[in-house]
Amino acid sequence: MARTALFSPFEIIEGNRAGGMLIVADHAKRDMPDEYGDLGLPAAEFDRHIAYDIGVEMVTRRLAAITGAPAVLCGFSRLLIDPNRGEDDPTLIRQVYDGTVISGNYPMSNDERQQRLDRFYRPYDDAVGALMSSVAEASGRSPFIVSMHSFTPVMQGRPRPWHAGILWDSDPRAPLPLIEALAADGSLVVGDNEPYDGALRGDTMFRHAIVNGFAHVLIEIRQDLIGTQAGADEWAERLAPMLDAINRRPDIHEAKQFGSRTGPI
Ligand SMILES: [Zn+2]
Repeated sequence: MARTALFSPFEIIEGNRAGGMLIVADHAKRDMPDEYGDLGLPAAEFDRHIAYDIGVEMVTRRLAAITGAPAVLCGFSRLLIDPNRGEDDPTLIRQVYDGTVISGNYPMSNDERQQRLDRFYRPYDDAVGALMSSVAEASGRSPFIVSMHSFTPVMQGRPRPWHAGILWDSDPRAPLPLIEALAADGSLVVGDNEPYDGALRGDTMFRHAIVNGFAHVLIEIRQDLIGTQAGADEWAERLAPMLDAINRRPDIHEAKQFGSRTGPI
């Protein structure tokens, strides 16, 4: 039990909070608190995308180092509980994920669900909110929030053509300039709300950025491009000047309500 107390639901990478930008990585890690073991799964399942976003931790660390922006990384695998879902989302604690049955999540009692919310999900969620507030305070402006994710090259037998996808709901301030900057490199296939639609009620960007009217962007990079340190560094180095340029735009640091395609805020 002593080791359990050391498990941290999040990690903060310190940076220049007065710079106005912060990075959030919901699925960066696949760590599990000792008492949950591997949730009844073969260890190899933790090498798959179902446990975490492959490559995102390396990209986030490098991006934070180059831009000087602080970052918050979720400390636990999304198989324990998914921090990028609303508390009432049916996929918050998955019992089946991409063909794998997660026996440690079935059955799921109300008590156990509450435990995971109280001990892991909410402390991470609070850490995101606290970092955002402290960046706002240190910079004296509304913060710009960058959310890092990665996606599998193939889903249900279909290859995905995009190198990266920019996901957003209704606030165009950061997504459109970033799509434009990435597309300017003619060799990249850039998804606009692909491979997923960025309008997801209750997700991290909804809870923290959209409800507050803070400019934000969610970046998805294809996992095979960032699965090595060299690939991750290349993508961080590509994104850093683009994000720095967006962070310098005056409209980025004004709180403004754009609403949500998912319904009233
Ligand atoms: Zn993700």
